[in-house]
Amino acid sequence: MSSEHFKKIISHSKEYGFIFQSSEIYDGLSAVYDYAQNGVLLKNNLKEYWWKSMVHLHENIVGIDSSIFSHPTTWKASGHIDAFNDPLIDNKDSKKRYRADNLIEDYITKCESNILKEQKKQEKRFGEKFNKETFLKTNPKVLKIREHINQISLRFSNALKNDDLIELEKIIVDCEIVCPISGTKNWTDVKQFNLMFKTQLGATESSSKVLFLRPETAQGIFLNYLNVQKTARMKIPFGIAQIGKAFRNEIVARQFIFRMREFEQMEMQFFIKPGTQKDWYKYWKKTRLDWHLSLGIDKSFFRFHDHEKLAHYADAACDIEFNFPFGFKELEGIHSRTDFDLSNHEKYSNKQIKYFDPIENKKYIPYVLETSIGVDRMFLAVFSSSLVSEKIDDNSERVVLKLPKIIAPYKCAFLPLLKKDGLPEMAKEIKEKLKLKFSTTYDDKDAIGRRYRRQDAIGTPYCITVDHQTLDDNTITVRDRDSMRQERIKIETLEHFLNNSLDINNWLLKGG
Ligand code: ATP
Repeated sequence: MSSEHFKKIISHSKEYGFIFQSSEIYDGLSAVYDYAQNGVLLKNNLKEYWWKSMVHLHENIVGIDSSIFSHPTTWKASGHIDAFNDPLIDNKDSKKRYRADNLIEDYITKCESNILKEQKKQEKRFGEKFNKETFLKTNPKVLKIREHINQISLRFSNALKNDDLIELEKIIVDCEIVCPISGTKNWTDVKQFNLMFKTQLGATESSSKVLFLRPETAQGIFLNYLNVQKTARMKIPFGIAQIGKAFRNEIVARQFIFRMREFEQMEMQFFIKPGTQKDWYKYWKKTRLDWHLSLGIDKSFFRFHDHEKLAHYADAACDIEFNFPFGFKELEGIHSRTDFDLSNHEKYSNKQIKYFDPIENKKYIPYVLETSIGVDRMFLAVFSSSLVSEKIDDNSERVVLKLPKIIAPYKCAFLPLLKKDGLPEMAKEIKEKLKLKFSTTYDDKDAIGRRYRRQDAIGTPYCITVDHQTLDDNTITVRDRDSMRQERIKIETLEHFLNNSLDINNWLLKGG
């Protein structure tokens, strides 16, 4: 996918009422977006699909909805006050701010693409005689770049591991990385920047207390875990799931809804016996990838990326990466969080929050396996992989959003062929009977072809057309979004037809 495709995605999502820039009339607020009339339906369906597969399908997972604010000590205990930082660097000429680690990552990607360029050049020159493997192993130019990449990657990963900001800056200087805007190497020092938003509680400045907007929903689960365990009488292993807003003052946020300052997460913390984390880590890696695949998006869009630099709380971690229009990037994180959070909350609160294990007959602090996915990134993943434009029979082009049908904003559109002869009334009457069961829409403006295109563009799986024959024999035509094939069926079989292919519950029961 390309940057052209990415631009199309952004404009399509605005033109067809999925996503608007927040506060657009005031020229927008950077990295903050609003979900519009179609976007909110799609987003809610994604959340429902996640919630049902986590909470309804697992006997041992329950859900909560904790507050966005929590006692400020929460964030001291969780390590976010001290360690939730990104390394930032400013270019003195353009006054633009960057993440130092991103500048280095982009540099390494550029070196890789130089190898590819060299390869393409030689391929063209030698044609069929070209042997890629030998070329990569022996070409002096390639070997030199490869050695440089290895050297820089090693220095980079050591610098990250040791939080060595001076070394990060040295890498930027040694690699002669320039600012993409000013083209100069006039950099400031690298500084740590805490990503949490602060606000205050209390009526007057002097009596107020500093609060943080939560940068992840997970801590609300940790603070409540014992209350939930006791009141729901859960036994280890068990999980707590939550969907909610999170806030991060991201240094650079230029990738539409991929990196936002206000976003939504779907997180699940799974409480387990210490020592069993490796098995559960494997289990949740597989379960979560299977969940993504169950929506029907092609396997080639996903890959795992194991973390080398572990967050302050983890003993193993990986990402499920998705092939976004700008390349493979993190969609979901799976983290083995040890007992870091619970132990620290016990220490900072001075309250016992140990679990009593009736089988082992002893108390311990559980270990935690976390799965954490951004709703907005999931939205971008399904949206970007579904938007296609294709040539059709009459050599015209149609733009169609081939969303997984069960999460489409509208499941079907009712379209009377003509705006007269009782056809609109008939279409509305059929819609009326189905409107609470399925999300449906109605359209009687313009020629039928244009109405089909409009529904294609918002991903409606079926268009139901009511024509004169309907009045005679109670049949309607059902047009399939992807194949554009039309089928005539009896009105009374429509509900069954839709149930079979579109109902989230049926889909989940069938295992996706
Ligand atoms: P990244 O490395 O891309 O900044 P992260 O490793 O900081 O992400 P986590 O802390 O693991 O992300 O958060 C879990 C999930 O929350 C991510 O996989 C992502 O889907 C989502 N997420 C995190 N930050 C943002 C953001 N700024 N905007 C949108 N979604 C986000």
